[in-house]
Amino acid sequence: MSGLIPGRECGGCTVCCTSLVIDTPEFKKISGIPCQHLGEQGCGIHETRYPVCRQWFCAWRRAAFLDDWWRPDRSGVLVYVTDTHIPSHFPRRTGLIFKIVGDPAVISDDRFIWQIADLIHGGTAVFLAVSGPPGHESSRTFLNDEMAASGRSPPTVHIRQSVARAAAMASSARTMASRYATSMQRSLLGAG
Ligand code: SF4
Ligand code: SF4
Repeated sequence: MSGLIPGRECGGCTVCCTSLVIDTPEFKKISGIPCQHLGEQGCGIHETRYPVCRQWFCAWRRAAFLDDWWRPDRSGVLVYVTDTHIPSHFPRRTGLIFKIVGDPAVISDDRFIWQIADLIHGGTAVFLAVSGPPGHESSRTFLNDEMAASGRSPPTVHIRQSVARAAAMASSARTMASRYATSMQRSLLGAG
């Protein structure tokens, strides 16, 4: 996956400006809150935006196999490349994160299921991620191992079961992170 798809623009999408953590020397923001420069018309400093903002693009901007349905603000799924947390036994060192940023029901959508099935079948490392509370890292599950654990060939029923299992695990981690965040806030406020 290299370069950008000609003619494909972000349009009204600003998902990455809210969803992602940014930690660069020039600019930092926590995950899950809109960037301070984000306005109704998009980036308020577009002409002078930070290097990371100029260089980072989601997979929808880079990969032709993700059609228009996959624009993150439409699909509710932010897909992007990762080179971290890939298990050492997996042969490839880069993969894709499918982060749910909208309606969680998307995990039952055939387009979502089949795309993940195709990628896994082709040997791409694929993670399912669910956002945590603002400031927390997303919970992510390595779907390739989930599929392998199902013991049969993809896709359909086993993909659905694996995605549902991964989503449940990620949601449970998110709930624990929320509780932790709430309890930390209480502690900091001296409420117990
Ligand atoms: S998530 Fe992708 S399409 Fe949306 S603003 Fe970011 S790079 Fe553009
Ligand atoms: S500076 Fe602009 S492009 Fe960068 S995260 Fe903020 S709103 Fe988005």
